[in-house]
Amino acid sequence: MALAELALGFEMADEDLRAISSEYEHKPPEAVLRWALAEFGPDVALATGFGAEGCVLIDMVAQLTNGARIFYLDTDLLFSETYALCSRLEARYGIRLERRSSRLSLDLQARQFGDRLWERQPDLCCRLRKVEPLQEVLIGLRAWITAIRRDQTAARAGAGTVERDPKFGLIKINPLATWSSAEVWDYIDTHDVPHNTLYRYGYTSIGCAPCTTPVQIGEDPREGRWRGSCKTECGLHR
Ligand code: SF4
Repeated sequence: MALAELALGFEMADEDLRAISSEYEHKPPEAVLRWALAEFGPDVALATGFGAEGCVLIDMVAQLTNGARIFYLDTDLLFSETYALCSRLEARYGIRLERRSSRLSLDLQARQFGDRLWERQPDLCCRLRKVEPLQEVLIGLRAWITAIRRDQTAARAGAGTVERDPKFGLIKINPLATWSSAEVWDYIDTHDVPHNTLYRYGYTSIGCAPCTTPVQIGEDPREGRWRGSCKTECGLHR
C-alpha cells in the first residue's frame, strides 16, 4: 500500500483545507501553530533543519506547550556548529529534539554507493539521508509543521499556510509561509532566539557541511547550497 494511502491526513476535505488556509493566511504564525497543536494533538510534529526559521518556530512552540513533538533529520553530515545549536536549543527551552537518521551509516553508504556520494549523486544522497528518514517519522502522523517561506525558492512560492502534502500523504502546515527573511531576523533579535553561529560568517542557508558554502554580497541567500549545480531542494518539499 502506498504511503499516501496509509496516511491519516487525507481525512480532511480539500475545500476544508482551502478554507482553513485562507482563514490563517493573514494571522500570525503563533495562531497557526496554536490551531495545529489543538487540531492534531500528538499526531502533529514540527520538523526543524536548524535554520533561522526553524529556531523561530521552536521558540514559538515552546511558548505554547512543552509537550510538542519536534524532530530533526541528522544526516551525520551537519556542521559542528549545527550540533552545538541543537544542544543550546534543548537547554534554552528545556525540550528534547528527536533525532532521526538514515538506517545507512556513512560507511555503509560509501560501501554500497561509493565514497562522497553527495559529490556524484546528491539527489540519491538526499533521498537516503533525508527523504527516507522523513518518510519513516511521518508514518502515523496526520500533519507536520515545516519552516519554509514562500520567497525562499521557486518550488516554495505556492506553499499554503495549511495544505495537503501529496508526496508524504498528510497535512502540511507552514506557519512562516508569508514571512520575509527580515521578519524572521526581527523575531530572533526581539526574542533573543538561539541561532546558528555560522550566520556570522557569510552562511545564509545552512544544510549539510559538504553541500553548503557561504554566499557573497548580492548572491541569492540559497546560492551556497549545492553550489555550482542546478539542485535547489533536497526533496522534502515539492
Ligand atoms: S545535502 Fe548533501 S550531504 Fe546532505 S543529504 Fe543532501 S547530498 Fe547528502
